[in-house]
Amino acid sequence: MPENEIAIQAAVAYASDQPLRTTNLMLKAPAENEILVRIVASGVCHTDIMTKNKGLCVFPIVLGHEGVGIVAALGDDVSEFEIGDHVVLSYDYCGQCPQCEVGKPSYCNDHGSLNFSGTRPNGEKTHRSENGASSDVFGSFFQQSSFATYALSHETNTIKVDKDLPLPMLAPLGCGVQTGAGTVFNTLAVEADTSIAIFGCGCVGLSAIMAAKVAGAKNIIAIDINPRRTIMAKELGATHTVVPGDFTNSTELVEHVKSITGVGGCHYAVDTSGIPDVLRQAFDCCRPLGVTAMIAPGVPGMEVSVEMLGLLPGKSLRGVVQGDSQSKVFIPMLIDLWKSGQFPFDRLITTFESLDNMEAAVSAMSTGDVIKPVVIFDKSFA
Ligand SMILES: [Zn+2]
Ligand SMILES: [Zn+2]
Repeated sequence: MPENEIAIQAAVAYASDQPLRTTNLMLKAPAENEILVRIVASGVCHTDIMTKNKGLCVFPIVLGHEGVGIVAALGDDVSEFEIGDHVVLSYDYCGQCPQCEVGKPSYCNDHGSLNFSGTRPNGEKTHRSENGASSDVFGSFFQQSSFATYALSHETNTIKVDKDLPLPMLAPLGCGVQTGAGTVFNTLAVEADTSIAIFGCGCVGLSAIMAAKVAGAKNIIAIDINPRRTIMAKELGATHTVVPGDFTNSTELVEHVKSITGVGGCHYAVDTSGIPDVLRQAFDCCRPLGVTAMIAPGVPGMEVSVEMLGLLPGKSLRGVVQGDSQSKVFIPMLIDLWKSGQFPFDRLITTFESLDNMEAAVSAMSTGDVIKPVVIFDKSFA
């Protein structure tokens, strides 16, 4: 084995219509500013599935952006970490652009290239197939590509956590849980005694519901087509649940939500569905000055329409990436909330064992059977 590479296993995405396949690969040694992390477990996020299934990436590629693991090696310029540290990986950012400078790194000018290009920031590929003469597999997804036994990350997207915490359970904090909770705490800054409608009760929506409860919202209205999910929503803090199938059209549904809150509707609405008609319903549920957060953008080119007159009473529609979270501050805060019993995000998780079950985990999430799959690669953590 050449000194500048290590042998790894990864669940590789070869094409949009093919299942992930466990493959032996070679991973480059960490560059000066990189951290080599032995991945213990990884969450699966809808973004992984969408990216592959809609062909929004280059192939073949190692996806995965909710990795947790143990620091195995450090580039020469890395000072914040030591070998053996337990870490949660999240999205990456440059740290220097105008948005990063004002503490909004999820809107980094380089968000697309750092998280979705499949390469290091300098354009290099980090993975190659076992017999490949040169780098022939893309990686660097969210500067981690965590569907693998080892990953390369940066200091910016690596968060140190206590060694006594159950590491696999922390995986979804890096994206799904952070996105839902961050939308409520950071983006909307939901206040006590307010009303919020949350469309979609997957990992992001349920995390938003738990956060809204912590924030002291008075009416937390959970909307999902799957009645099993609305039951879960209620257990986690929703005060009301709504199943769209019970209504003949959008107007009826919106009027029902407004009848719960009174006084013109909700202060806040969150759409996690990525469906234009649902986003419109979320917007229509809000009162004057109400804010609607759009978390899932659907696919490129998708549009939503709102009546201009509907916007007039001070209402706004806001896109949200990663819940406006500064992961290094926000993830430890969420862990503290979990420890205090106020934020039981572990209830969203179903664990799978072994990299070979990555495709099964993806399927279980796609069908809605599982809210948040976490695949554990290191049996000693199972
Ligand atoms: Zn930036
Ligand atoms: Zn994600």
